[in-house]
Amino acid sequence: MADFSNSEIENGRRLFAGDWSFSSAASSVGSLPPPSGLEVAFAGRSNVGKSSLINAITGRRALARTSNTPGRTQELIFFGGPHRLVLVDLPGYGYAATAKSKVATWTRLIHDYLHGRTALGRVYVLIDARHGLKSVDEAIFDALGEAAVSYEIVLTKCDQVSEEELEKRSESVKAGVRKRPAAFPDLIVTSAHTGVGIPQLRAAISRLLAERRP
Ligand code: GDP
Repeated sequence: MADFSNSEIENGRRLFAGDWSFSSAASSVGSLPPPSGLEVAFAGRSNVGKSSLINAITGRRALARTSNTPGRTQELIFFGGPHRLVLVDLPGYGYAATAKSKVATWTRLIHDYLHGRTALGRVYVLIDARHGLKSVDEAIFDALGEAAVSYEIVLTKCDQVSEEELEKRSESVKAGVRKRPAAFPDLIVTSAHTGVGIPQLRAAISRLLAERRP
């Protein structure tokens, strides 16, 4: 996992200890908010633990709504924080029961958002540590690569697998993105339940913000 100095960890902690709140939702490109500040987006299959992770990094129990109906939310949700940092919760993908027409709408919406969104600094693609990469994840990597958006993998629910399995899963996921130039070679291992990796994810975002600030 990427290394962060104590001061970077502390900067990340401070950044996310600030005020976070819902700012807007968009279900079509026309309703996207005007870009402002730095956007960091989170993508992943339905049920990967995306809402739980957003709540964990912001230290808010219910900022992002955890849903019992996978595939229901077809909106991009924008959360505003300190220093004009914006977290974007992208709609979950790959839920088997989702109608084809909905998948098409999802694909178009994400595609349109990713292309030409200058405020978008990075996408974190969440992968369930129990399951590893699936073909729908490869499809999102393709879309991100085409849009030339930099992205990094976050393994979620690491508390659900043994140390040995986690090691194997990390290696195979890393191998899966090795040939993809828009992907970070490293990944961040997390658990929203135990808090593992949360300080590192905050630090990574804080580092990106520091790099992007004039
Ligand atoms: P989303 O659909 O991607 O937003 O996923 P949610 O955050 O709603 O989580 C889906 C399910 O996974 C819920 O039952 C969560 O309690 C569970 N979950 C999320 N994060 C973790 C984690 O770090 N560890 C474990 N064991 N379960 C988790």
